[in-house]
Amino acid sequence: MSQIHIIDHPLIQHKISLLRDKNTGTKEFRELVAEIANLICYEATRDLPLKEIEMETPLAVAKTKVISGRKLAFIPILRAGLGMLDGVTSLVPAAKVGHIGIFRDPDTHEPVTYYSKLPDDIAERHAIILDPMLATGNSAVAAITELKKLGVTNIKFMCIICSPEGVENVQKAHPDVEIYAGVMDEGLNEDKYIIPGVGDAGDRIFGTK
Ligand code: URA
Repeated sequence: MSQIHIIDHPLIQHKISLLRDKNTGTKEFRELVAEIANLICYEATRDLPLKEIEMETPLAVAKTKVISGRKLAFIPILRAGLGMLDGVTSLVPAAKVGHIGIFRDPDTHEPVTYYSKLPDDIAERHAIILDPMLATGNSAVAAITELKKLGVTNIKFMCIICSPEGVENVQKAHPDVEIYAGVMDEGLNEDKYIIPGVGDAGDRIFGTK
């Protein structure tokens, strides 16, 4: 069973509370999403392997560590995942970025993949999928399936708020994928929005409603 990591750092919890406020406007909401993504990414990259190298300081040769092994790729799920991208690339500027476009059919709530553009060497990379809301989990499962089809073996899923249903869905379909979230909310309403959640994250990031 894949692990769920709830990153309950006070800064993350405080910023999530501000996100929830219906009076938080687009500019602040967008900034908060990026900041929270940055903080969660710090934890999601904690297990990156290191290797020891020698580096000449002005005074001596230091035995010191750098990240080794697979390089990273961030994969925002369009469109709300884009809101997390600046926050994570500021931590890992050399990471490549792929995009997967998935929308939720409003009637069936099933995911429809309408766009997929990934780095050529994605199979050699450690992929971190970004989507602020893990609601039903159907988009997450579809995105992970898409990456696995291309040979990606090392996948993490990063969100800001998850629901118990979404986590269970991902864990059942992809038990090898670790989930990183800021908080787990109560559940989903009949329209499959997370309660209490933040409303429609895409609309709030991009100011479309
Ligand atoms: N997507 C959102 O933006 N919000 C939710 O609550 C669920 C899915």
